[in-house]
Amino acid sequence: MAKKVVPKKKHRVPADEPWKGLATRSIHAGEDRQRYADSITTPIVQTSTFVFKDSKEIEAYTKGLKPRYEYGRYGNPTEKVAERRLARLEGAEDAVVFTSGMSAIATTIFALVKSGDHIVITDDAYRKTLQFCSSYLQRFGIGCTIVPFGDYDALERAVRRETRFIFSESPTNPYLNIFDLNKLRAIARRHKILTLIDSTFATPVNQRPLEFGVDLVIHSCTKYLAGHNDILAGVVLGRSELIDEIRALHKAMGGVIDPHCCYLLLRGLKTFPLRIAQQNRAAQAVAEFLESHPAVKRVYYPGLESHPHHRIACEQMSGFGGVVTFEIKGTLSNAKRFLDSLQLCFIGPSLGGVETLITHPATVSYYEETRAERYALGITDTLIRLAVGIEDVEDLISDLDQALRRCRRPARRRS
Ligand SMILES: *Cc1c(COP(=O)(O)O)cnc(C)c1O
Repeated sequence: MAKKVVPKKKHRVPADEPWKGLATRSIHAGEDRQRYADSITTPIVQTSTFVFKDSKEIEAYTKGLKPRYEYGRYGNPTEKVAERRLARLEGAEDAVVFTSGMSAIATTIFALVKSGDHIVITDDAYRKTLQFCSSYLQRFGIGCTIVPFGDYDALERAVRRETRFIFSESPTNPYLNIFDLNKLRAIARRHKILTLIDSTFATPVNQRPLEFGVDLVIHSCTKYLAGHNDILAGVVLGRSELIDEIRALHKAMGGVIDPHCCYLLLRGLKTFPLRIAQQNRAAQAVAEFLESHPAVKRVYYPGLESHPHHRIACEQMSGFGGVVTFEIKGTLSNAKRFLDSLQLCFIGPSLGGVETLITHPATVSYYEETRAERYALGITDTLIRLAVGIEDVEDLISDLDQALRRCRRPARRRS
């Protein structure tokens, strides 16, 4: 089991919310105890605007004497609860929620750069993030250097005078590489630049980048935080002064999340630490099962000693997550037969929900690339990414086992 992470930086806990446990915070943090109509659940304030009682109230509001809501794009009470709760879970001063993880990423980046600036990103970041940085940003005269993940010397060499920040992910997709956050902090301190980590695969249960001195943490809440494969949402978290700038741009761009979606996010969050604990356990069991299976060539899971970053993962994470990547023996047709034989695991992109999902990157996410291009990116024909849900692990393992047996059967030959 992973060692406990020693927090480098204590975060302030509000006096009326002394709870240390993430399970408690997931249910209670960031919300007044007494709610509209004495409801136990968070009210969905389904409104586009907020009315003033009289001219005195307008005056109190505009003079800053009485904070309140004004217009939906600038804030909504249901959204506010989601932001506060996520901030408490991550140990951040403040947070902004978005309609998707990509909206959080793109808006955050735009809020931090101006024409002439430069950014550094690691090469196995989420594909859309990489595309955004390497193509759209260029149009605005923002330079972007992509460095190989894990090459900390190359990372430091890529930093220039105009560099605003380093963006990376940990763990990454699909090989679950782990970024050494202490090295990231050292490089950023030397050059006085910001650091951003997409922590979607880890969640605040397994990893707290802010405690390692990272400036901004981003999550696609679509995945583990909401957890039910039913909504898209994203969040960025960090110090108030940075979050204020990001929030200001977000309100100007206008793609704000709706209150009903925030309710579903809050509902999902209540069981999130329970789900992650189960997914950590199940993924470890599945990874060990796969590693010993004769039809499997190689397994990538940070909780296995065979993973190249197992040691860093033990040092900076308190759990290894619910995604297991593996390569089966054989060819593309064996991989297809494996997928076609599954009876429980659904085939599809995404991760972090209650249903187990399997994706075959070669045919699902990289179908536009040629085989040579895919192989250059490390996406082989028989690579499979398994995002473990919360089904019974015995059922998952037997589904995988029967599909692995079937995919190995030689295709019938005429004699
Ligand atoms: C899914 C994902 C995103 C994008 O999030 P959306 O909610 O789909 O926009 C970004 N980063 C990582 C690591 C992801 O898994």
